[in-house]
Amino acid sequence: MAASRGGLETGAADGSAGCSGSSGVEVVFPSGPAAPAPLCPHGPTLLFVKVNQGKEETRRFYACSACRDRKDCSFFQWEDEKLSEARLAAREAYNQSCQPPLSRIQCVERLLRFVQLPLPQRKFCRRCQQLLLPDDWGEHGEHELLGEVSMAQLQRPSQLLHPLENKKTNAQYLFADRTCHFLVHLLSTLGFRRVLCVGTPRLHELIRLTAADDKKYDIKSLLLDIDSRYSQFYMEDSFCHYNMFNHHFFDGKAALDVCRAFLQEDEGDGVIMVTDPPFGGLVEPLAITFKKLIAIWKEGQSQDNSHKELPIFWIFPYFFESRICQFFPSFAMLDYQVDYDNHALYKHGKTGRKQSPVRIFTNIPLHKVILPTEEGYRFCPLCQRYVSLENQHCEHCNSCTSKDGRKWKHCFFCRKCVKPSWIHCSICGHCAVADHSCAGPGAGCFICGNSDHKRSTCPNTCLSRGANKAVRKQKQRKSNKMKMEATKGQSMNQTSVIRRKKRRERVHQYLCS
Ligand code: SAH
Ligand code: ZN
Ligand code: ZN
Ligand code: ZN
Ligand code: ZN
Repeated sequence: MAASRGGLETGAADGSAGCSGSSGVEVVFPSGPAAPAPLCPHGPTLLFVKVNQGKEETRRFYACSACRDRKDCSFFQWEDEKLSEARLAAREAYNQSCQPPLSRIQCVERLLRFVQLPLPQRKFCRRCQQLLLPDDWGEHGEHELLGEVSMAQLQRPSQLLHPLENKKTNAQYLFADRTCHFLVHLLSTLGFRRVLCVGTPRLHELIRLTAADDKKYDIKSLLLDIDSRYSQFYMEDSFCHYNMFNHHFFDGKAALDVCRAFLQEDEGDGVIMVTDPPFGGLVEPLAITFKKLIAIWKEGQSQDNSHKELPIFWIFPYFFESRICQFFPSFAMLDYQVDYDNHALYKHGKTGRKQSPVRIFTNIPLHKVILPTEEGYRFCPLCQRYVSLENQHCEHCNSCTSKDGRKWKHCFFCRKCVKPSWIHCSICGHCAVADHSCAGPGAGCFICGNSDHKRSTCPNTCLSRGANKAVRKQKQRKSNKMKMEATKGQSMNQTSVIRRKKRRERVHQYLCS
């Protein structure tokens, strides 16, 4: 059912772009014809290669596309490994046993029965995260149940279900209300009539609620998500159980057809894709998937529209900008800071915005995207786009250069603007954080050596399973070094070191390394 791989690979087909000198695990997308990847419970696996000091090890292996933790999906197979018929059959049976117990059709039938129940009989099992029909009550007798599930609750499943915060797989971070309302309003202002929500369950439900409440918002939404719990709440035409790392529809052709019909309605006019993938995920497989969705949309276009692009919002941290633009050169980054609800670090506090690093990447011309002035955005007439208040137009760069919402400063040696805390280092020949050790290990990212981010946020990280041990060691060295420097009282002020270290830990925690 998946679209063919041919023609979708991009320039960086070997998956190693920008990773020279790195250690870790990378995805490989063979450019020629390749054997079909073996299947895990999450659909076709991806081919990986271990890289040590920039050198690829020769033996490649298949692993799960969706789960970055072996605990969540233990699939492993060497590329050249031959499996016996018996093992293949056992694997197939195992994959089957991992699928949700009910088919998509059965879920829909249950939902229809559920909504017909009188209110006192509408129960939800908190432990099993499941809507219950009277026949199920016995089985859940000992569990914590929620009674009288209202229509309003049914329409907001992202509030009823507890978010799957398992960082390595689902990383379910739900939009804060104001971000979600901003997005719905923006989509409607831009004139979209259909939204393909890929991994955005809360946006999906708010679009539907808004459309139901207010006839002037006539927008339809289709949710594609790996969280099968959502299938209890939606009919077939508004939810597909889907893996965005391998473009796998768990319910096969019927689901692919739903997605195709949605993209191709009105010859593809009036539709946009909005996606908010787990940040720890791999950019390249995501890009390949999105190109497959774009190809489906394009099939429905009439000839004279062949130059048009499918409008996309890809929500991701700002430091992935170069990586995303590598795959989608027409994309640009909006200054809007995307806020989350269940996120200790980036939810909007009473005291105002904590700076979220998450942005919207889009191929919609930036001047068309109006950012709310009441939240501190302004229009820059020179750049012809909305920027955050502190993002000042640099006359030397001739653009509003800040990426993180703070005011950046221009460095005449580097001939570009840099973060406010950076200083120009004459040994390294570029700007860097004040406490870097010149050109030495730890000066920058462990994976690509760049000084503007750490390993945990490296846009070149493909997978870091293999690198973990080395990184722990490096961290240990670093923290020893910090302790030493702090006690010696040299060159660094102790509290600033601790503060920086804490901040790093928080960011690290957030970005689910
Ligand atoms: N901010 C969004 C949620 C983003 S969290 C909102 O509020 O609507 C990431 C979402 O992607 C989650 O819903 C998660 O279930 C989904 N997801 C995680 N891995 C996925 C995968 N491999 N394929 C499809 N969806 C996935
Ligand atoms: Zn898997
Ligand atoms: Zn500048
Ligand atoms: Zn400089
Ligand atoms: Zn230096």
